Amino acid sequence: MIEVQGPEMGRSMLENPLLAMGGLPRFDRIEVAHVVPAIRSLLEELSAEFEALEASVESTWAASVIPLEAIGERLSFSWGIVGHLMGVRNSDELRAAYEEVQAEVVGFTLRMGQSRPIYRALEALKGGEEWDELNSAQRRIVEGLQREGRHSGVALNEPDRERFTEIQRELVELGTDFANHVLDATQAFSLWLREPEEMLGVPGSLRKLSAQAARDAGEAGATADAGPWKIGLDQPSIRPFLEHAERRDLRERAYRAYVSRAGSGEYDNSALIGRILGLRRESARLLDYDSYAELALSSRMAGHVAEVSDFLERLRGASADAAAEDFEALGDFALRASEGEVEDLRHWDIAFWAERLREEEFAYSEEDLRAYFPLPKVLKGLFSLAQRLFGIEIEEADGETSLWHPDVRFFRIRDEKGVPIAAFFLDPYSRPGEKRGGAWMDECVGRSRRLAAPGESMRLPVAYLVCNQASPVDGQPSLMSFQEVTTLFHEFGHGLQHMLTRVDESMAAGIRNIEWDAVELPSQFMENWCYQRETLREISGHVVTGAPLPDELFEKLRAARNFRSGSDMLRQLYFACTDLALHDEFSSDGPEDAFEIQRRIAALTTVLPPLPEDRFLCSFGHIFAGGYAAGYYSYKWAEVLSADAFGAFEEAGLEDSGAVKDMGRRFRESVLALGGSRDPMEIFRDFRGRPPGVEALLRQSGLERS
Ligand code: ZN
Repeated sequence: MIEVQGPEMGRSMLENPLLAMGGLPRFDRIEVAHVVPAIRSLLEELSAEFEALEASVESTWAASVIPLEAIGERLSFSWGIVGHLMGVRNSDELRAAYEEVQAEVVGFTLRMGQSRPIYRALEALKGGEEWDELNSAQRRIVEGLQREGRHSGVALNEPDRERFTEIQRELVELGTDFANHVLDATQAFSLWLREPEEMLGVPGSLRKLSAQAARDAGEAGATADAGPWKIGLDQPSIRPFLEHAERRDLRERAYRAYVSRAGSGEYDNSALIGRILGLRRESARLLDYDSYAELALSSRMAGHVAEVSDFLERLRGASADAAAEDFEALGDFALRASEGEVEDLRHWDIAFWAERLREEEFAYSEEDLRAYFPLPKVLKGLFSLAQRLFGIEIEEADGETSLWHPDVRFFRIRDEKGVPIAAFFLDPYSRPGEKRGGAWMDECVGRSRRLAAPGESMRLPVAYLVCNQASPVDGQPSLMSFQEVTTLFHEFGHGLQHMLTRVDESMAAGIRNIEWDAVELPSQFMENWCYQRETLREISGHVVTGAPLPDELFEKLRAARNFRSGSDMLRQLYFACTDLALHDEFSSDGPEDAFEIQRRIAALTTVLPPLPEDRFLCSFGHIFAGGYAAGYYSYKWAEVLSADAFGAFEEAGLEDSGAVKDMGRRFRESVLALGGSRDPMEIFRDFRGRPPGVEALLRQSGLERS
């Protein structure tokens, strides 16, 4: 997908590489110009197939689910490649092509969900004789399809159905507007600093970044040392500024702008929030749920609002006192360190003094650590851990398939007997301009017996692992921060669940069909190993001397893991409780507006109540423009599972290689192998021998109280 070439007209669609299912994507041949014709012709074909299916569908597995799977697989293969390239090889041309066909793809998907003949056939299948012969994966697939249908409004009669569809359409638009407003409001603010004294305390990396921002804004002569500097509200800028800038008045200005972002003026999201919440509630009511939260939770591991509330309350009880103590200790420290100047901590002081306290207590910097984590060494150690835990061998397979960028690596996984079972791409480095920020794992293709190529017994799963770490410079390999290391482990954990699945049905294999609040289990589980001594020895090796991380640094790293953990947890609970209350209690004609609900929750979940002008809801994209509506709690929910799963290894003895091996195989055969084929609670119980408990997370976070 490198440059735009002539349109595809005249060439046969058979040659369009985006439609070439059956192997891995042909990244060497795919061009932007393929996108629109490929997706249009595919949708045309699939629509015809779907209409034929609606006319002929029967209430058997073979005559309903299998054809649906075939249609879904073809769409997800081709559209999946386009989505992947949007993340890793973005360009104006690609974005335009994507936007040109996106509405058509969404429309087709909605039409599939709302099909009554299909829905009736699935109902009859569930009530019929064949049901007893279906295995657990197949049953969960049928039930999942039924639920999708219901949640798309298939069972509604007119005029409710029309109203429901209208609401869905408006919600998609409102979500896009909300996100655009946040982006625009973020861009609209800038704090220009021209005196070196205003930049006191600001580290070199932010000086470079903000001088670059100044040059981009027309100050051609801006330099990191002499300024001027432009501080923005985007994370890479505002975060280090609040942590390091010594000028308290400037931190205050930046902080106030940050928390009132998109809360007034041209890009005001306030009204959108009420509209979105009102429409969500209305659609939930049409589907016969009390609230949007109840609707959302009906397809999650946590079944009801009360269950999630109890869970969050339990964690609040465990972290509120610790957070209050953190605050008090920070106040004492600030008073002492400022020699009496800072008498009471304000919002814009917290991050700044927390960083000073961290420096004093642990006396190491992220920069010190980087030299110990060159990427090749980290990968070698990670693969060796995977071998110890799960008995798999990972080998380099570069050159076996085409790539979207020369820095991308390709690896193959073999089982104990040397049989290939999966493969993955790793795209490690940041490429500003064409690659989305953050890190993620995605499916390239999923495991499936039915979709195997002719002559093969199985289509093997292949994953994309994408990170955004520093590129190699000056002949040295990429030197990773410790956070980049844990991120790689995290994504690898998602990848393992996709690749080590033993489910043959593609619609329930790997990470598919897993309840959304359980998906972060394997990923957060893998992060824990970064703090285990043996693993850390294996993944670290000084770039010059080759020496592993010294014990002294290891101990500091481990101790720093729980620095202000009560405050961190309470903050997550503030977001999670607010999200849940908004989606359970808000109503357009109710007694409280969204901001009043936020303040009521804040009184219970913050040590320092929000400022009067705080409009953090106006930039809470997770729940208003992302997929986290009534789902923010999932982070903590899955962390309970992952900490408890890791607890099983701790109990068995982390230094006992035999015990670790046995437990690793057990984890592989349950959590990693069964994925979406069974209820996640049952799977967890199989692994742990009991239901999950929060104790392991509290212990791991240092919040256990005697
Ligand atoms: Zn994740």
